[in-house]
Amino acid sequence: FKVPEITNEPMRSYAPGSPERKALEQAIAQLEQELPFEVPCIVNGKPVKTGKLAKQPIPSDHAKHLCTYHEADQATVASAIEGALAAKADWESMPWSDRAAIFLKAADLVSGKYRYKLIAATMLGQGKNAWQAEIDAAAELTDFLRFGVKYVEELYSIQPPRNTPGSWNRTEYRALEGFVFAVSPFNFTAIGGNLVGTPALVGNTVVWKPSPAATYSNYIVYKIFEEAGVPPGVIQFIPGPPAEVVAQVIAHPSFAALHFTGSTFVFKKLWKDIATNVDVYKSYPRLVGETGGKNFHLIHQSAELKNAVMQTVRGAFEYQGQKCSALSRVYVASSLWKNGFKDQLLTEVAKLKVGPPQEFTNFIGPVIGKPAFDKITSYITKAKDAGGEVLIGGSADGSKGYFIQPTVILTKDPKSVTMVDEIFGPVLTVYVYEDADFEKIPELVDSTTGYALTGSIFSQDRKALLFATNKLRNAAGNVYYNEKCTGAVVGQQPFGGARASGTNDKAGSMSIFYRFVSARSIKENF
Ligand code: GLU
Repeated sequence: FKVPEITNEPMRSYAPGSPERKALEQAIAQLEQELPFEVPCIVNGKPVKTGKLAKQPIPSDHAKHLCTYHEADQATVASAIEGALAAKADWESMPWSDRAAIFLKAADLVSGKYRYKLIAATMLGQGKNAWQAEIDAAAELTDFLRFGVKYVEELYSIQPPRNTPGSWNRTEYRALEGFVFAVSPFNFTAIGGNLVGTPALVGNTVVWKPSPAATYSNYIVYKIFEEAGVPPGVIQFIPGPPAEVVAQVIAHPSFAALHFTGSTFVFKKLWKDIATNVDVYKSYPRLVGETGGKNFHLIHQSAELKNAVMQTVRGAFEYQGQKCSALSRVYVASSLWKNGFKDQLLTEVAKLKVGPPQEFTNFIGPVIGKPAFDKITSYITKAKDAGGEVLIGGSADGSKGYFIQPTVILTKDPKSVTMVDEIFGPVLTVYVYEDADFEKIPELVDSTTGYALTGSIFSQDRKALLFATNKLRNAAGNVYYNEKCTGAVVGQQPFGGARASGTNDKAGSMSIFYRFVSARSIKENF
């Protein structure tokens, strides 16, 4: 069979009065009426209620919570692993066309039947506004599932180019021996689906620990996989287990791979723990991780002013700066800064309304939780202490929801703390350079942090674009010209970075599927 042509899921506008706006408002009202939900662990397709209860608060109104979930305990984790290993043979040997059909059906369920419910859960639970939740939980998740099928078809078709007469060489792409452990983040509902879906599509079974702050939306994703026909045991949903349970998973001899998105600190910690267990494992585990970023806009004097300003505002402040790809440091040419960039930037930032995301006029929602709120606000203080000038924003109110005003800091020190550290919040730091120094700036951009996820270069002069692109060779896995550094699209810009930003295996591309198969070469003589 041949997979039909795949296109990106079209995005809906949610204009006031539109049918999708009404449907989404209804879905939000329904969730608000029914919450809090109870979320169990799921092992072998059956709910497991451990009784160890934890809550997923609503960040815009943290006295309320979206769900209460049962944290996995040791016995649950042990049976999840055992069940994943037992489910593997049937799943892996299922005809590829059946696995593909299940994933294409899951994509249709995301794009259709569950679209508004998933978006509403992402808005309430993770604090995204409607358009950000649409990009994530509807469009990107659908794209991951559909394009995944296309990519696996391509992967399976890669065969050795030569046969000698009288023989036939072929390569078979087996699932990894053992089980895959997926650890997913709060900031994209789609990433949870992708961290699980990518290994599962090529025949692996997956033990899934979603972020505690995205439990409910990820539970819906689990239920969609189930409804689409993923058999019991193929995906084991074990929310919120504490560190010892994670330790239990990675101490298992059949641990075959980690598929991770989250902080650099946690990924390194897991990597070290995995290293100490290396003698226990049957195979060397595959470690695939997308971690932090300290993403930049480098703005040349020739940049088109309005576009550079608007892209900067969007890159820095959409979803409160909580994308791994979010913009957090800007290097702007002095002539541009003085002749409009500064004024327009401050005017545009002043227009951004802060408040609960379910009110559609709010652009900026809450940050995800109390630790994030404290960390981000402490960085604003640190920036001021280091001589940074807060041009706009700087205040925060965590009394009802975790709201932080979009903040722009001007620094004279290009290596000051908010130019270096990942903040993961609505804080943008600007460094103004003399136009004549442009050629020195890429080296500065490159050497300021250990991260290398995304970056954009703004210029109408192709020579400047090429110069910076060459100098910044290793500074970002995703580079954009004259566009913000967020918003990679599945099937268009494979996403990921190297250095402290991850293993750069490129989500949304074929190459990541290679990491979850173990190839076997077969030669047959006639
Ligand atoms: N792929 C997303 C983007 O390009 C970011 C994903 C992340 O935050 O990990 O904006």
